Amino acid sequence: MGAGDEPRPFRRTLCDYPRQIVRAQTPYHSYRSLGGLTVENASNDCDVLVVGAGPTGLMAANLLKRAGVNVRLVEQRGEATRESRAFAVQARTLELMDSIGLARNFLAQGVRADSVNIHVKGRFRGGLDFARANAGDTPYPFILMIPQSRLEAILSDDCSALGVSIERQTTVTAVEQDGQGVTTHADGADGPFRIRSAYVIGADGSRSIVRQATGLGWDGDMLPQRFLLADCKVHWPLDHESFRVFLNGSRIGLFLPLDGAKVSRVMATDVSGSFGDEDGSKPAPLDLAEMEEGLSKAIALPVRLSDPVWVTRYRAHHRFTDCYRANRAFIAGDAAHIHSPAGGQGMNTGLQDAANLAWKLAAVLRAGAKDGLLDSYDQERRPVGENVIKSTGRLFAAAAGQTGAKAAVRDQIISTVLPLLTRVSPFQKRAFFNTSQRAIAYPLGAYVSGTASKLAPPGARAPDAPVHAVGSVFALLRGYRFTILVFSREKLNEADTASITAAQTRLMARGLAIGIIAGAQPDEDVVFQRYGVGQNPGQAVVLVRPDGYIAWRGESLSLDLCESHAAMIMPRRGISDAS
Ligand SMILES: Cc1cc2nc3c(=O)[nH]c(=O)nc-3n(C[C@H](O)[C@H](O)[C@H](O)COP(=O)(O)OP(=O)(O)OC[C@H]3O[C@@H](n4cnc5c(N)ncnc54)[C@H](O)[C@@H]3O)c2cc1C
Repeated sequence: MGAGDEPRPFRRTLCDYPRQIVRAQTPYHSYRSLGGLTVENASNDCDVLVVGAGPTGLMAANLLKRAGVNVRLVEQRGEATRESRAFAVQARTLELMDSIGLARNFLAQGVRADSVNIHVKGRFRGGLDFARANAGDTPYPFILMIPQSRLEAILSDDCSALGVSIERQTTVTAVEQDGQGVTTHADGADGPFRIRSAYVIGADGSRSIVRQATGLGWDGDMLPQRFLLADCKVHWPLDHESFRVFLNGSRIGLFLPLDGAKVSRVMATDVSGSFGDEDGSKPAPLDLAEMEEGLSKAIALPVRLSDPVWVTRYRAHHRFTDCYRANRAFIAGDAAHIHSPAGGQGMNTGLQDAANLAWKLAAVLRAGAKDGLLDSYDQERRPVGENVIKSTGRLFAAAAGQTGAKAAVRDQIISTVLPLLTRVSPFQKRAFFNTSQRAIAYPLGAYVSGTASKLAPPGARAPDAPVHAVGSVFALLRGYRFTILVFSREKLNEADTASITAAQTRLMARGLAIGIIAGAQPDEDVVFQRYGVGQNPGQAVVLVRPDGYIAWRGESLSLDLCESHAAMIMPRRGISDAS
């Protein structure tokens, strides 16, 4: 980082808040130093310290390493967790995994759910049918059910292959910042020690020490509804392949397919009053008989449960921070936002937080980007987190928040309206667009600009489409790096070919990839349509960020403005994908 681009010491971020715990600190070599030189400060132990090896921390460490950043990952747990809170992996997450070559590992270990079936008082009434959603712009038009523990194992194995190991039995106890960096205090197997880094990411879950130590806010409530949860064998008259929601007055039930008839996740309303958290006591243990009774009342069908893998009582919270950044400290995932599991969004949102932040840190550390780029992490991701909390809250309240007459009316309305809605394609399309997280787009600003377009505008996710020779747009976007897509409906003439070839050499030397989609074949119109490249002028240039969002767009073949935008983000060079 150039001297002129140093973060101003003790500056407040846009989400202004008195959140500094700062002590003057002289940089030093800690006794746990890896000896790796950092770009920013040769006496740091690493450029970025990631706290917490849950899904968010693993993703952040993985992507930072791919972008060439010297990263360390610490985790308080001695071994990987076997409990699996999350199961639903959305299309947008699979697209991210696709970009780093891991999607096939996920598909091999998960179960594809093509619908969400809703039953009222035991009768199937309709629901989400992803086949009707016409989601041709993603290779993943479904929800993948894969236990969080398996997702973590895939990311952790990939981190090892990249050279990032999880430093286990390491509990972070305090975080201090000064103008030059961050000092993180931790308790390890050999006693307390400190790690000095340029930046720290708190991916340390809802009780985040990084959030607390930096004074970031945390506001919200515990939701009143309580649930029984079990991963077990389910014996019932229905199949074990479909995602099902059961409404029955004040009782609701949930069935998630995991591993055929062998193991499934079931949840049901807990009306026992044994949760125990109001008076500080521990919840009463749950046994399978109580789970079975609760579930059978919710689903209004005969059911028997056996072979439990995990059984617990569960109560959701919704809580949110007021800022994702405190100078050199960032929070991501559950450290920044927690909410009900309705809609299966939490883990997916954390993974995308990591994808948004990692390249920005890499750009500042390795490519001379300005500190303001780091503010765009909060500007882009906080509204997404806020929206997830609102939308999952609404869904949860509609499904689980009703009792008595209100619940009876809800059941009546859903029984009448849902069979009709299920057949309406635009409803299915919109529902899948939102739940798959493909609808997320970022606002225009210093780092997101260019010409407006109805389709694929600056700030939107770059959609997939078939492309001759390479297979698809996503094949061109593979690698966690910037890619320039050049579109021309006509074949390129000699002059255009010469100037694009010259630019290609220049751009590749700066670590940017370039993909050319020119001379539309008769069956190739769809890629031009999805990117909003009409007949006139029939040309466009689109700059796609490492996290798959459009950073800039222009409606001609001239690469100059696009190159200037890329150089404004990364004055020295691009983010290279080290994989
Ligand atoms: C019942 C249930 C079902 C869910 N289903 C879904 C779903 O289907 N889809 C979905 O997207 N989401 C779902 N979620 C939410 C999802 O589980 C979380 O959003 C996800 O685990 C968040 O990941 P994370 O890495 O941010 O935090 P965590 O998973 O909480 O990981 C934080 C890590 O930090 C470590 N840590 C904490 N403090 C320290 C410290 N001081 N020092 C070092 N390490 C520390 C912890 O040990 C932990 O490993 C569900 C949640 C629940 C409860």
